[in-house]
This record gives sequence, structure tokens and C-alpha cells, in this order.
Amino acid sequence: MNQPFRDRDLVASLVRDIRRDVTALGRPVTLMEVCGTHTMAVSRSGLRDLLGGLVELRSGPGCPVCVTAEDDLDRMIALATLPGTTVVTYGDMLRVPGGLGSLEEARTAGADVRVTYSALTAVQTAAAEPERRVIFLGVGFETTAPGAALALSEAVRRGADNFFLYSAHKTLPPALRALLHGSPPPTGATSPGASGDPGSAGPGAERRRVEGFILPGHVSAVLGRRAYEFLSEDYGLPAAVTGFEPVDILIGVRELVRAVARQVRGGARPPVLNLYPRVVRENGNPRARDIVERVFAPCGAEWRGLGAIPGSGLSLRPEWWEYDAAVRFGDELALRLEAAAAHPSASGRRRDALRRACRCGAVLRGEILPPECPLFGRACTPSDPVGPCMVSGEGSCAAYHRYHRGKEAPTSA
Ligand code: SF4
Repeated sequence: MNQPFRDRDLVASLVRDIRRDVTALGRPVTLMEVCGTHTMAVSRSGLRDLLGGLVELRSGPGCPVCVTAEDDLDRMIALATLPGTTVVTYGDMLRVPGGLGSLEEARTAGADVRVTYSALTAVQTAAAEPERRVIFLGVGFETTAPGAALALSEAVRRGADNFFLYSAHKTLPPALRALLHGSPPPTGATSPGASGDPGSAGPGAERRRVEGFILPGHVSAVLGRRAYEFLSEDYGLPAAVTGFEPVDILIGVRELVRAVARQVRGGARPPVLNLYPRVVRENGNPRARDIVERVFAPCGAEWRGLGAIPGSGLSLRPEWWEYDAAVRFGDELALRLEAAAAHPSASGRRRDALRRACRCGAVLRGEILPPECPLFGRACTPSDPVGPCMVSGEGSCAAYHRYHRGKEAPTSA
């Protein structure tokens, strides 16, 4: 089968283009891939190694499981332990360790925790088992929120009043703003980014400055290209929406490197490109956004690694509160959390010590690469993970462990 987006000659030609442009620039370029699917694709396809010494690709806060706050995770675990309750979740959430253990451990201890690929499955479960309260754990970005909103509408249509939603949904643009907050836009050769000096993007930041973004293809299918223009207008940074195949990603990298080079030469405002037009439109998917707006309202949300970000979460609108697990079971939840905090287990205390050393936050902010975490590959492995970035199928630490372990960090721009 002809697979033009994986064509080896095309890949080699694009890498040659990038090498030529980086050589002309005289220094490597640092980019951030925002999406966890890109993180995995870049490692799996060998692009991280191919681009070594030319482009450093840092992972951003685009893995939904990884950025789910520990407090949210603990509430989910506490919900799972309520009597007569079934929680339904995506598989990646099962093994993420939180303060109260993990959903998998709760299941081992007797909680009814079920895995699904679709929120609608939880509605079917609620309809089939009316004697149980069925809570769908809503995690993810603009891509999964429409599915959760649709599931809630469907539950109402079916009269499944034992269906509830716990929303830990998040939206990406406010997180990108938070990541860049305090980082002055590059102004050509005199900027920290353009000089290639270590970054100065925040108090005490260890990271080198990110000079451009590879934007998430799936989220962008909902949001559209236009939603990211602020990256250029407010922060002076180029960005490109790309697909997930090697040729897709390399075209994005090449265009971003060229945009950085133009900026260094004092060129025009950097572009925000849509290089995935087979999926992404200028204004995204208005129907998906409509259903989300009908069910959810923006709210402040806590992100692992980024802290509290105003307007970055999605909570149920008041007219849906009777289906909101956080509202309906708020008192029971508070009692469970209080009791768990008062009696931490011995294994919990041991885990706490390890979790305090976990550098997932710095990984998610693009400040360090996973092998720079002292626990990477030692105390933290995919079979015995300490942080969510090692658990998730889209996690940066999992990608490095699987594809780069034992090698040097792919680049040191
Ligand atoms: S290697 Fe493990 S402990 Fe370290 S940052 Fe990654 S997930 Fe956290």
C-alpha cells in the first residue's frame, strides 16, 4: 500500500532541508509538541533521533491523563469507593498513582471500576443496571469533551437518572497561555530564544526557551487553526497544526525552523499554519463546540505541573447539576477524603516519598526531558510507575522509556 506520509525518501529529503536551514541559522532550534499523540509518534517513528543536534522536541501539557490533577484523581478514587457505585473510565487512568492509590488498586480492593473507549458505554451501563449509580470520569481536552456532553444528553433522553458525570475536562489554549506567561516575545537576534541562550521563561525556570509549537491535530479538528493565533499575536511565536505521520510532523518542523530563522533575521510576524487540512478547518468543528457549550461552562482548573489556570476547565452548567457527580455526591466525597487523609496506609506513605521526587511537572512544562528525572528507569518504570507521565500511552516518560532508554538524551540544543 502506498503510504506517502511515511515515504522514506520524502522523510530523508525533509531532514536534509531542516539540516540545511539549521546549519544556516547556526544553532539548534527548540520546539514543543503539545499533544501526547505527537509525543508518542515522534519517538516511535525515530524522528527524535533523526533530528538530534538539529531540533530539540520538548513535550508539553498535551497528555490528558498526565495533566489531571492529583486532587481530581483522589476524588475519582473516592467516588469509586462509594456504595452501590460503578465508575467508568478510560483505560489510561487506571494505573495513575495519586494520594489515595490508584483506580486499579481501588478495583482490586472491591470497587466497581470499568474501562471504556466511549462515554456512551457508561450510559448503556446505567440503562442496563438502574439499581447502581454509574459515574463516567470525564478526562481530556476539546477532543473528548463533546463525547461526554453527548453521553449526558443521551442519558437524559433515555431517562437514565442513575448516570452521572465527573468532569475533569480541560481546554488547551489557556494552558498554553499559562505556560508562556511571563515569557517575553522574541524580537529577533537579541531575544533569549534567538540567541540560543538558556531560557528565561519563568522564575527559576531550567528550560531553554521554546521557539515554536507543533499543535495538536485532534484538538485542532474541534478548535480550528484560528484559535491559536494568539501564539503569534501575543507571544511572537510560530506554530503549526500537523498530522501524526512522520512526513506530517517533519513538514511542520521544517516550516517552524524556517519561521524561527525569519524571526532572527527580523522578519514579519510568525505564522500559525494549518498543515493538516485533510482534518482541520480554519474554524474547527462548530457542531462539536456547540454541544460542549450547551453542557459545559468554562471554570478554573488545577493542572498537574501548571497549577491552577483560570478558565481552563469545563464544569457542568447549573441546569445539568443533578447529573454532576461532584455536586450530587459532594458530602459523601468530602467524608471519604477526610477519612483517607486521617489514616494513610504504609504503602501510601512510601509512595508519597517517591511521588515527591517525581518531576512530571517539569516534564509537562518542557523544562526537562524525562531521562533528567532521577527516578526515570530506576524507581519509575512502566511496570511500576511513580508519575502519570510513565503510565499513560501518551506520556512523555513512557515514550522515552520505550524508545530511547539507554541512549543519550536525543539532543541537547
Ligand atoms: S520518570 Fe516517573 S517519576 Fe520521573 S517524571 Fe517521569 S513519571 Fe514522574
